[in-house]
Amino acid sequence: MIPKVLIVEDEPAIRQMLGFALAAEGYNFLEAGDVEAAQNAMKYLMPDVILLDWMLPGLSGVDFARRLKRDPDTADIPIIMLTARGEENDKVRGLDSGADDYITKPFSTRELLARVRAVMRRTQQPPNPEIFTEGPLTVDLQSSRVTCSGTPINLSPTEFRLLHFFVTHAERVYSRSQLLDAVWGANAYIEERTVDVHIRRLRKLFEPYDCDVYIQTVRGMGYRFSTIVD
Ligand code: CA
Repeated sequence: MIPKVLIVEDEPAIRQMLGFALAAEGYNFLEAGDVEAAQNAMKYLMPDVILLDWMLPGLSGVDFARRLKRDPDTADIPIIMLTARGEENDKVRGLDSGADDYITKPFSTRELLARVRAVMRRTQQPPNPEIFTEGPLTVDLQSSRVTCSGTPINLSPTEFRLLHFFVTHAERVYSRSQLLDAVWGANAYIEERTVDVHIRRLRKLFEPYDCDVYIQTVRGMGYRFSTIVD
């Protein structure tokens, strides 16, 4: 099956660049200059991934993302938001809208295609594999055992819960408050700084085995577990 990508972007030059890159990779794509055109396109063809510009004339990309995630027919389609520099302050708000990932303009087509492949891989994988492996890292989700290059890594229960959440929600950006809710529980009264402390500790444990690169800081937004390493 050839993946279908919907490009929602009001700048024709960027739309053209995206379409060219996707076509070169063998993807099918549809183009829309605003939300209304995107909705019309989706009546005929459901995309596998949506590239969604943040600032659009009329309804914004963020509001459209929220709408798509509320609708059961479209909730599972991964959304990658395209943002301009300087919009970073609003990014956490965008995460809450349900976007899966972000790319900041200007971006390379190499990075864009890697992100598209990554979100598609995530949605196509069975949701609950028992063992996660990537490079030297192996996480046994049943027995809570973690190894790097075959060496056992001792994690605290919280560190393991954090890693468990990351590997089962890979290739998606989460804000600190989203991680707190998911790993510590929505009712826990814990400062967001606590997340940073645990991230630092995980990275330190993984560093000797070059596994720390999977736990990535996304500036102004939060963290992402990603197997795409620059
Ligand atoms: Ca725009």
